[in-house]
Amino acid sequence: MSLLQETQITHCPRCGSASIIEFHNAVACRACGYKLFINCAAATGCLAVRDGSLLMVVRKKDPGKGLLDLPGGFVDFGESLETGMRRELNEEIGLAPERLTYLTSGPNTYLYKDVLYHTVDCFFTAVMPVGIEPCAGDDAESLTWVHLDDIDEEKIAFDSVKAAIRLYKEKYR
Ligand SMILES: [Zn+2]
Repeated sequence: MSLLQETQITHCPRCGSASIIEFHNAVACRACGYKLFINCAAATGCLAVRDGSLLMVVRKKDPGKGLLDLPGGFVDFGESLETGMRRELNEEIGLAPERLTYLTSGPNTYLYKDVLYHTVDCFFTAVMPVGIEPCAGDDAESLTWVHLDDIDEEKIAFDSVKAAIRLYKEKYR
């Protein structure tokens, strides 16, 4: 799919001209010279394992409504990956872990309201605080602990998440 189709941009965002073309990863305007770069968005995901089971989120919304995901989400302007990760964990599972450790990253696509977004997902492992149970909030329909031996990739919403879980199992099991 072309960048113009993916972004559904039909006119120059600055001057309104319909004379726009794709230029590598940018949309360029022939009329005024404006160039809008379409970069990938940063996102995070957290692997929290307790007694061999991984904490997963049942997605409340599309893309992947009803499928499993890791707690996480898009990084806001001005945030570090770690700050974004902690904010998303607070929003989705009601707590932030004591320690985050970088695991891996991977590309992903995210189709939202017919617009295809490209992301780079950064995955952390987390040590969860003892004695506090996570509870679903925000974009999470519910939370579930899935044993690492029982993970069914067909039920996972995103390829980057599947790859991160595979890597985690190779590394730590
Ligand atoms: Zn223009």
